[in-house]
Amino acid sequence: MGSDSRGILYVLSGPSGSGKGTVIRHMLQQDADRFAFSVSATTRSPRPGEIDGKDYFFITRQDFENKIASGEMLEYVEYCGNYYGTPRAPVEETLRQGRDMLLEIEVTGGKNVKRLLPEAVLIFIAPPSIKELRERLTGRGTEDSATIERRLEVARSELGEYVNYDYLALNDTVEQCVGRIGAIMQAEKTATTRM
Ligand code: 5GP
Repeated sequence: MGSDSRGILYVLSGPSGSGKGTVIRHMLQQDADRFAFSVSATTRSPRPGEIDGKDYFFITRQDFENKIASGEMLEYVEYCGNYYGTPRAPVEETLRQGRDMLLEIEVTGGKNVKRLLPEAVLIFIAPPSIKELRERLTGRGTEDSATIERRLEVARSELGEYVNYDYLALNDTVEQCVGRIGAIMQAEKTATTRM
């Protein structure tokens, strides 16, 4: 045994419209025990249907800043005017118990996690093309065209961040992307067990 008794920390990132949320849902539907999912804290307001403690811990700015000060956040960023962060204790406890854990965070957070925990496995979900991304964002029907253009601009710069990631998984179809990530996780597990 040795390092193989600890769980593997996966970080999944991708631009808005890359479909990362759908991919994670599909993976958990296939196998709910595959990994534990880290619930982030945020100061943004809940969207309709979001549940406190499941989708996010929705907390005030003051609470968030207190948690930063007391070292309770493994990483955090300010993104579009709100704080988002990964509570440290559940990550450490889950990995210590030998269970794998998945963080769904944006690219700056991903880089920070890798700096803190170099053994973390970073997976970048990429849409097949900017054209496809535009079609997906338009298809949602939730944003006006100016917002879509702004999101595409951010997506272009986020796409360049894949160079900091260990793997790139193309999301052309959800099924194929889930398969690719499954193969990455299997490869990492085998490599870790061999160490
Ligand atoms: P949304 O407001 O759409 O739920 O999330 C906005 C962005 O914040 C997404 O890219 C999401 O991956 C990212 N995010 C969610 N939680 C965290 C977190 O704990 N840390 C970081 N760095 N990013 C997060």
